[in-house]
Amino acid sequence: MYRLANHLGLVGWVSNAPIGVEIHAEGEETALEEFIRCLNNDAPEAAQILHYEAQKTEPRWYSTFVIAESFVEGKKEVGISPDLVVCQECLEELFSPDNPRYRYPYITCTNCGPRYSIVLGLPYDRAQTTMNTWQLCKRCEEEYHNPLNRRFHAQPVACPECGPEYYVREGDTIVRGSHEAIRTAANYLHEGKILAIKGIGGYHLVCDAQNRASVQMLRERKFRKDKPFALMVQSLEAAQNFCELNETAIALLTSSARPIVLAPIRSEAKSGQYLPFAEIAPKNTSLGIMLPYTPLHYVLFEELRTIGASTVFVMTSANRSSEPICYRDDDALERLSGIADAFLIGERPIARRVEDSVVQTSPLGKMIIRRSRGYAPANVVSLPFREPCLALGADLKNTITLAVEKQAFTSQFIGDLEQAEAVASFRETIRDMLSLYDLTPQDVVIAHDAHPGYISTLEALALPARHHYAIQHHKAHIASVLAERQEYSRQIVGIAFDGTGWGDDGTIWGGEMFVGSIESGLERVGHFRHVPLVGGDAAARHPVQATCGFLQALQSNVDFSAAPFNFPDSYRSSVQLLHKNIRVFPSSSVGRLFDAVAALLGFTRPVTFEGQAAMWLEYLANQATTTRSYQVPLIQTGEMLEWDWQPLVADIVQDVQHRREQSAIAAGFHQALALAILESSKHLCTLYKANTLVLSGGVFQNIVLLRMITEHFRQSAPQIELWTNSLVPCNDGGISLGQAVLAMQSG
Ligand code: ZN
Ligand code: ZN
Ligand code: FE
Repeated sequence: MYRLANHLGLVGWVSNAPIGVEIHAEGEETALEEFIRCLNNDAPEAAQILHYEAQKTEPRWYSTFVIAESFVEGKKEVGISPDLVVCQECLEELFSPDNPRYRYPYITCTNCGPRYSIVLGLPYDRAQTTMNTWQLCKRCEEEYHNPLNRRFHAQPVACPECGPEYYVREGDTIVRGSHEAIRTAANYLHEGKILAIKGIGGYHLVCDAQNRASVQMLRERKFRKDKPFALMVQSLEAAQNFCELNETAIALLTSSARPIVLAPIRSEAKSGQYLPFAEIAPKNTSLGIMLPYTPLHYVLFEELRTIGASTVFVMTSANRSSEPICYRDDDALERLSGIADAFLIGERPIARRVEDSVVQTSPLGKMIIRRSRGYAPANVVSLPFREPCLALGADLKNTITLAVEKQAFTSQFIGDLEQAEAVASFRETIRDMLSLYDLTPQDVVIAHDAHPGYISTLEALALPARHHYAIQHHKAHIASVLAERQEYSRQIVGIAFDGTGWGDDGTIWGGEMFVGSIESGLERVGHFRHVPLVGGDAAARHPVQATCGFLQALQSNVDFSAAPFNFPDSYRSSVQLLHKNIRVFPSSSVGRLFDAVAALLGFTRPVTFEGQAAMWLEYLANQATTTRSYQVPLIQTGEMLEWDWQPLVADIVQDVQHRREQSAIAAGFHQALALAILESSKHLCTLYKANTLVLSGGVFQNIVLLRMITEHFRQSAPQIELWTNSLVPCNDGGISLGQAVLAMQSG
């Protein structure tokens, strides 16, 4: 603003105020108009103007334009920026041999670089970042204090003379000097070694993606059997060699958040055998791909290019199987010693774990799967509520949301709270977010999942808040979509499909119909027919165990331990538990229906990551050239509507026995769900005079399903508008936002 005001010959001042930025500008009418226009249109990428007001005032005849001291008293300044990709100007300097920061991996300016991942406290200045132990040299100091310089008040500013460096560590051998270290790392990758590389919000494990043996070795050492790896490539053009990227995907891939974009693998790439896809993304039609986002990544690519090495690498969170990502050096060295051959370590500490974000495009637009680096902790949306509320999410894919000052701030992805480390991050994040806004638990109301056994629930109840609200899981899913769109009074029909969530009646929900609005409340009007689920939530790991309740209800005489089903012995023990009614819970979960169908089609081993069986079915359905058609009738039982899965499961059993094509059955299953959604929505929309269908829950990450749904609605119910999540995940990562609005509405 200072630069812009000077450029336009305006006088006055600019200052940080508790509610945002305040400006007093004097000058020619046209210059003032231009000032407002530029503020709105030409703001740097990192800037986000949520709201502005302009009013005329008397001139005070200032002689210059100045940056006034912040008049922040008692109250803290607004917001902390997410971590940003290195900007174009810094990149140019990075590769100019005569620039003092030539190939310096910590180059940054006010328009780019780390923020959230280096902040230790507020107000945001250097002393409160992980850069606080590096004293600025004369040159950096000058740039830092010159309002006309791009590095004016750039807190992490540094140069090779005064700042941190990268070094390589391999056993007891250390290679110092960033240039040497990065060159060494490039050579290691070229040789097929696995590297642990420190990034913005944690360590990555990295290897040459074209080297099949390296990728296999990484899988073995990481105990990661099947979950796909993400790739980093040098440029958009390189990404387009591997993936089909539409306009939305390109915009996401090149955006300043630089997320991992999930996109379909190009058939040419697959048949051309450019990459060992079977090792990188086994049984998958899409690939997670991202572009470099730190100066280090860019320099590393440059070094690889120079030595003629492959410039495609696997880049995956550094952890063992599903543990949280490593971000502290000592912890990384210890936990990753059996996985990485060498470490490329940066001296700048990471203040908190911030994982890569993951997005995809769907027929309904941009869809965020994991909202983290580049997005968090920025506000998601404005809210009409003034009272502060802290919502603590669910236990899987946990995020928390702080609603304060009429804004909803959703945290980075914290992870699964069954991991002790994730619980520690969860507590830290609560402390962080509250202290950012000068709040204590006593100042807020707390929203949490209704599940009495969730760790997030127990943690919530242990906090001395003014009030605690238990929010039903699937209502929170639906409300998260409405919150994103700031629709509080619109009457909608909502369908939530996911793996599991505590129901108001104490059963396991996961295939639910709702009607209502945030203001009037969401009422459950229907669900999938209950099925006895052996082991309850624990069944999520064993598709065969999930199948048991469905198949027993059919009372068929089929021997599932024989071909073509070949169920393992565990099936028989599940049946016994079912008959003895030991740890059996009624459930309406669609996630478990996916598991059951996957088991019938041959997925009889335990899953190695959440949602794996469903992803496999989606993969099969995607290959289908023909489709079997199945029925899911809608039945009125008392007050409730029920989707009856029995004809569907019975027909699938029969089709498997008749050795019908797997892919056709999988596609038919998806079609049956899409049609069930269509028919029930048409019915409910007419009955309750609604014209909006809201879809949420992890199942809707399934692109094949969404494609079929949108197609059916376009053809036979174009009057119904289809909504799903876009700003927060439709999986449990979005729960906290929905909880916040429902709690505030009832409070
Ligand atoms: Zn920059
Ligand atoms: Zn310096
Ligand atoms: Fe859920």
